[in-house]
Amino acid sequence: MFVDIAKIKIKAGNGGDGAVTFHREKYVASGGPDGGDGGKGGDIVFQVDDHLATLADFRYKRKYTAENGRNGGGGNCSGRKGKDLIIKVPRGTIIKEAESGAVLADMSGDEPFTAAKGGKGGWGNRHFATPTRQAPRFSRDGYPGEEWEIQLELKLLADVGLLGYPNVGKSSLISVVSEAKPIIADYHFTTLTPVLGVVRMGPESSFVMADIPGLIEGAGEGVGLGHRFLRHVERCRMLVHIVDVAGSEGRDPIEDFKTINKELAVFNPELTKCPQIVAGNKVDLATDGQLARFRKFIEDQGLEYYEIIAPIAEGTKELINAVAAKLATLPPVRRFESEPVPMEVLERKKDSGFKITVRDNDYYVEAEWLLKILNKTDIEDYESLQYFQRVLESSGILAALVERGIKEGDTVIIYDLEFDYVP
Ligand code: GDP
Ligand code: MG
Repeated sequence: MFVDIAKIKIKAGNGGDGAVTFHREKYVASGGPDGGDGGKGGDIVFQVDDHLATLADFRYKRKYTAENGRNGGGGNCSGRKGKDLIIKVPRGTIIKEAESGAVLADMSGDEPFTAAKGGKGGWGNRHFATPTRQAPRFSRDGYPGEEWEIQLELKLLADVGLLGYPNVGKSSLISVVSEAKPIIADYHFTTLTPVLGVVRMGPESSFVMADIPGLIEGAGEGVGLGHRFLRHVERCRMLVHIVDVAGSEGRDPIEDFKTINKELAVFNPELTKCPQIVAGNKVDLATDGQLARFRKFIEDQGLEYYEIIAPIAEGTKELINAVAAKLATLPPVRRFESEPVPMEVLERKKDSGFKITVRDNDYYVEAEWLLKILNKTDIEDYESLQYFQRVLESSGILAALVERGIKEGDTVIIYDLEFDYVP
């Protein structure tokens, strides 16, 4: 089955905790602190794998967790780093933050994408020794790994999308112009999965054509099959619109053409700007009158038009040459830009709580959601810092600090951020 959308949870590894140990040696009285640091947690990394064609694997496994870092040990031994988890996806997969729909990455190229960062390891007690505190009996816990709910969407990478009603001859065309071998049959919806075919123009030049399952009326509003599959034409550089000019199933070819274009506009108005070349197929079954009427209609719209008999490759060479010539004038396949995850989405997790630990006059605040916000806060930027302070207030963290007895001049430590408390 062709699966082109999936929602999964990913969780990077937590950092290991720092150790509290002291140097011990025979005949040496009290050694200094030598607690090692915790190891960093493993990242969650996405990588394209061209052996994959669908997102089917993600239907059965929904939660992905990378390894935690190990805790630090005595004798300045650092904990081992957690292993990264590599998740393989088909080329063309878009990774979105599930709640906001913000695009995190477009997996069209070969660069890996780190979607969740492993937590840093905590410092061992040796880092906390000072002239006045030679035997610190504490260390830092590791930082939590990032956790996200994400949506994966496969948007095929094809130069040309084939459009048209079921049974008009899309599969027949792709099978004669490329090496792809789709099922061809005279019943509707034989194409349930998109088929990609490489059309070779010469030793150095080729393009990719996608046979997308038949559109039916109402597809743009989600009725029937088409809607799901229209996602795949979004990236196409141009469309070849195939019409059964003979009306061999009793429909009017002009109405077919209009209906399909209406569906495109409903699904995504941008698609109406995508260049189209029209192919009138089943010419062998059409009367001269039918051919002339449809040709005039298309030419009146200023569109390029070719007549073909797909199964015997009649007229297809001219069509393909025209497509190649058009592609040469068009920009490359569209890549989706990544977008920031809105702060509100991060903030909404603040009900999930936080932890405060008091040590001497230092107040440590920990929460996975807060770390995510902190990672996005520019401490040098006044507005950004103010926003962070508002989060501390609205989440109840400031009130909790006061309840724990914080006084002016005490230190608040939130992961890497340290500041003096001012009431
Ligand atoms: P698709 O649903 O658009 O992929 O259409 P297919 O390529 O599967 O074709 C549907 C049916 O129409 C098949 O039985 C084909 O053999 C037939 N067909 C396709 N093109 C032509 C054509 O140009 N002339 C004739 N006579 N039959 C065709
Ligand atoms: Mg087909």
